[in-house]
Amino acid sequence: MYDRPPITRWVAGRMVLTGDAAHPMLQYLAQGACQAGEDAHALAGHAERLGERDLALEEYESDRTARTARVVAPAVTR
Ligand SMILES: Cc1cc2nc3c(=O)[nH]c(=O)nc-3n(C[C@H](O)[C@H](O)[C@H](O)COP(=O)(O)OP(=O)(O)OC[C@H]3O[C@@H](n4cnc5c(N)ncnc54)[C@H](O)[C@@H]3O)c2cc1C
Repeated sequence: MYDRPPITRWVAGRMVLTGDAAHPMLQYLAQGACQAGEDAHALAGHAERLGERDLALEEYESDRTARTARVVAPAVTR
């Protein structure tokens, strides 16, 4: 089991990170699956609302990296 300091880039072209791949955290926070669910909801919302795929991914990245960094940062062990 590992965590990692937050990163700011989750998008490369048409590839996008979600869940633990984007924001690994130790289980004691009980937030990993919750945040993965929020990722999916945010990504679907941006894609539906904006339509244009690249724009949706950029907005998803900026929204979710900020949110998950707030969740993870206080507990990062390294
Ligand atoms: C003990 C424990 C307790 C937890 N308790 C909570 C809790 O109370 N609340 C909470 O919100 N979160 C909790 N979590 C965290 C939560 O389980 C994870 O954050 C969540 O499962 C992450 O989902 P994910 O889809 O990103 O990754 P995963 O659930 O890890 O899914 C990734 C999937 O990809 C598959 N895979 C890997 N490599 C490949 C490959 N090369 N090809 C194809 N498939 C591949 C894996 O087999 C796996 O099925 C807990 C975790 C642990 C370990």
